[in-house]
Amino acid sequence: MRPPPVVPLVAGSLLARLRGDGLDRPPVDPGLAGGLRDWLEDGLAGPAGDVFDHNLPVRVSKKGLSQVVTCEAQLVADREVPAGVTPELARGSLVDALFRQWVTVGVVEDPVGDALAALAAEGDRDGTVAFVVGLDPGERAGLAAEVTAHTAVVTGGWPVPSPAWLPRTQERLVVPLVGGRIVLSGVVDLALGDPAGESASVCLVEVKSGRRRAEHRADLHFYALLETLRSGAPPFRVATYYTGTGELDAEAVPEELLVSALERVLVAASRLCRLASGAEPARSPNPECSWCGALPGCGPGLARVGNPEAR
Ligand code: SF4
Repeated sequence: MRPPPVVPLVAGSLLARLRGDGLDRPPVDPGLAGGLRDWLEDGLAGPAGDVFDHNLPVRVSKKGLSQVVTCEAQLVADREVPAGVTPELARGSLVDALFRQWVTVGVVEDPVGDALAALAAEGDRDGTVAFVVGLDPGERAGLAAEVTAHTAVVTGGWPVPSPAWLPRTQERLVVPLVGGRIVLSGVVDLALGDPAGESASVCLVEVKSGRRRAEHRADLHFYALLETLRSGAPPFRVATYYTGTGELDAEAVPEELLVSALERVLVAASRLCRLASGAEPARSPNPECSWCGALPGCGPGLARVGNPEAR
């Protein structure tokens, strides 16, 4: 059966979903953040204590977290030979830059030109500008058409936030644990709302130019946990905005969500500490084996993808 057609949200309904119109703002439990922090500190003190000094601090990002719970060997391989910029990654970086421009300035005149200028001004940290400059004219025109289409979705459906909402782009969330031996960190595309008082009031938004994926929710839940630990109060809402379709995947942040995110962080941070203590990475065959850079030398991965010569 065909999936139902996607109906992009217009600004009014998008705002209502972001604000959770009709829902009460939950009161902040003053003991929640401290309890979560204590849980993490207790669970990670042992693993963090085994880490070689030259590998400190152990950093836990959304990407590393996702990789290490999927396959430790894949994470190690990716660190040794980082994946280069692909057209999809370049599109994501360009669209992210345009989204930031739209919510802060409210104007986009030349989508690709504006985005490249913004990324160049930031030092082209991920190599997107160099990648785009190196494309042949046909590839570049194809990428420009995609970026322009995504920009039309954003400017047609995403409201330029009022300064009263305190919009913050690229909001850094950093949480040191175990005396700084472990650092949880992330950068949220957009944060809205006053710091919480007696009730939760912050909304976190991630922007995605690709297809909807289950991992996107896990990323948001990690950020919800970071915000809770950092500020002492959970966000009111977390949401993923899909610039290809205008969809908004928004949800509330109950305590169970934070506990589940914390349990995932405990597993991931313990594994990262184990690797930073010199342990051999475990190989865990999974659906991503076909795209893994370590596949040619990985027996379990080759077996997973059906190679008859796998050991
Ligand atoms: S091929 Fe699969 S099992 Fe092997 S390292 Fe890569 S992801 Fe892990």
